[in-house]
Amino acid sequence: MRLDKHLTINNVQLIKIILIIFIPILMASSCKIKREDSSAEGTSTEKTIAKPEFSADSAYLFTQQQVDFGARVPGTPAQQKCAAYFEQKLRAYGASVVVQKTNVVVYNGKSVPCINVIASYNPEVKRRLMICTHWDARPFADQDDSAVAKPIIAADDGASGSAILLEIARQLQKKNPEIGVDLVFLDVEDYGQPEYELNQKQGDFYCLGTQYWCRNPHVPNYKAENGILLDMVGAKGATFTYEGVSMQYAPEFMKQVWRNAELLGYGNFFQKELTDQIIDDHYYINQMAKIPTIDIISRTYTTRSGFPKHWHTHEDNMNIIDKLTLQAVGETVLATIYNF
Ligand SMILES: [Zn+2]
Repeated sequence: MRLDKHLTINNVQLIKIILIIFIPILMASSCKIKREDSSAEGTSTEKTIAKPEFSADSAYLFTQQQVDFGARVPGTPAQQKCAAYFEQKLRAYGASVVVQKTNVVVYNGKSVPCINVIASYNPEVKRRLMICTHWDARPFADQDDSAVAKPIIAADDGASGSAILLEIARQLQKKNPEIGVDLVFLDVEDYGQPEYELNQKQGDFYCLGTQYWCRNPHVPNYKAENGILLDMVGAKGATFTYEGVSMQYAPEFMKQVWRNAELLGYGNFFQKELTDQIIDDHYYINQMAKIPTIDIISRTYTTRSGFPKHWHTHEDNMNIIDKLTLQAVGETVLATIYNF
């Protein structure tokens, strides 16, 4: 994903204007919320929420298993093996699975395979929630000081979100939700142009699997009431903020999810602070598929990029994965599914 400073899409100006108008209002209201009784926030006034079963041990194992395939870079054997692994696991957990295979053209003109895997629960139910993540590994480490042309192993930026989705699938098989749920594993998110090759011709080369899925949903006229994107959701000490695009398209839903996290005791991970816009898969899902979707993504003020230190470096490996973070995110998303 990237910050919107590189955005070249036509309506970026419009978004900026809207933000300039609304950010002060949003910030003012978020400050106000902090001083008030927290039950005033979100759409629910519930004071408690049932703690769903979610195993961080199994989410950790699912992260490790993806990493063990090697960097899941589009066009490599690791990509094929990992896609087959998702399909096999999701079928074993009782989901209806669709595997979308296509080719997409990346920033340098190369055509690479793109494999989106979609797992559906209660496919006949109209009221649906869509939970998604990208699963590919970035082919370069352009934020690192060394070996910048080598792919990252992407334990956090790719594997962590997919691991949480797999554990959610395992839990949904054990306890069927009332609503329909689609778990969407999106490919070729992170093949955007590396910083060291940046030129004037930058286009929409991030989130290519998502752009394909938006144009070719796994079922015709697919609709979900809301969507949740997970991105970099497994690292030690991660903090998730009110990201700008999410707050533009689905502010009430985002506050509800953050409120669920707080009720579960994870307020230290889910912070109620508005941060700048990220061009991530949810941007295209909001724009193209018109599903109001939020991004649970790790942000920090300790780096210039606003992303954690390991972002797009070789430090994004199993050493930074923390079961506590996996637990906080997994439980929050599952509680949102069961209480939607
Ligand atoms: Zn990334």
